[in-house]
Amino acid sequence: MSAIEPRLVDDALWYRLLELTDGAAALCYQCGVCTAMCPWGDLRKEPLSVRTFLRQAQLGLQDGDQSLWLCTTCAQCSAACPRGVDIVKVLRALRLLAWELRQVEIGLPSVLWSLHWNNNPWTQPPSQRAGWAKGLDIPAFDPQQHEILFYVGCTSSFDRRSQKIARALVHLLDAAGVRYGYLGEAEPCCGESALSLGHSPYFREVARQAAQTFDEHGVTALVAISPHCYDVFKNHFSASMNNFEPMHYTQYLAQLLESGRLRFNQSEETRVTFQDPCYLGRHNGEYQAPRRILASIPGLELVEMTQHEEDGLCCGGGGGRMWLETPAGERFSDLRVEQAAACGASLLATACPFCVTCLEDSAKFKKLSGMQVLDIAELAARTVSNGKH
Ligand code: SF4
Ligand code: SF4
Repeated sequence: MSAIEPRLVDDALWYRLLELTDGAAALCYQCGVCTAMCPWGDLRKEPLSVRTFLRQAQLGLQDGDQSLWLCTTCAQCSAACPRGVDIVKVLRALRLLAWELRQVEIGLPSVLWSLHWNNNPWTQPPSQRAGWAKGLDIPAFDPQQHEILFYVGCTSSFDRRSQKIARALVHLLDAAGVRYGYLGEAEPCCGESALSLGHSPYFREVARQAAQTFDEHGVTALVAISPHCYDVFKNHFSASMNNFEPMHYTQYLAQLLESGRLRFNQSEETRVTFQDPCYLGRHNGEYQAPRRILASIPGLELVEMTQHEEDGLCCGGGGGRMWLETPAGERFSDLRVEQAAACGASLLATACPFCVTCLEDSAKFKKLSGMQVLDIAELAARTVSNGKH
């Protein structure tokens, strides 16, 4: 029998965790539902012991367990917790302690350094931020003329695959006759990578700078491409910083469809299924706007995967996992593309640049050559001709 290793309970750490989590962990009665619900249990021999992290937070322990960085902050565990514990909040607090104790996974500090030096976590020069828009003739945002600020975000600005989503949205906004503008190189990062990696003090600094930029430009309504940016603006900007209405682009397109400003005039005879991005669905309760868009595309047949809406399976790219390597075969998206194939879809649509990247990689890895992965914006843009692009 192996000896039980003694652990030291640190009162200062206990108070710090209590403060960081508003006591969220106290409600936990250690049932283990969170561990059972976490998708890592379907992919690795050792499930992610979420319950143990909650116990650590209750007792004020921090043992440097690097599996803390596996969490994608998908919130599937919180959704199932019978005590309603905000588990993501607790895990982010434990991550902040890991930063303070220098127990961070290799590769993550450089993400925040890039944010500091480049205004983006992609290690790309800030001067290239508007490169994706070359030739598109998008006006600089002017609050006197424009209905919305089109907020592209870092991923669709710099990642070549995700740039196609931004261009598709430009096509749709033009087709609907929307008066919109863009901040170009002045567009600030929302700070999501700092938040999801648990570095809340640095996140607050980045968020303050972003809010100041929006204020200086007179922004009152903002449409974001990524649900991660949308979530930050909606839920993590303080009331004093948030002088604008944030929308996810699927919500805005659904409004344009309902008001008759946007029409899809070409047919897509395809069976499609939809991947609910965690930061649109579980974190913000928006399940219908993307489905309303899909239902408006002539010829499309929507079929649901076994896990959908509140029970949707994460792509694996949230919570900073985009910046860490996950071995092929151990990715949530590997399971997801199999679910998409099992429901007979040949098109897997989503509404998040991280989801597109993860799902496309997994469709290739699983050799699902008949499975196309598209963002809803790209799919919708194919069915609209406006003669401009
Ligand atoms: S599901 Fe909720 S109550 Fe149960 S162990 Fe997890 S956090 Fe605690
Ligand atoms: S948020 Fe998702 S990945 Fe993180 S512990 Fe909960 S279920 Fe697992």
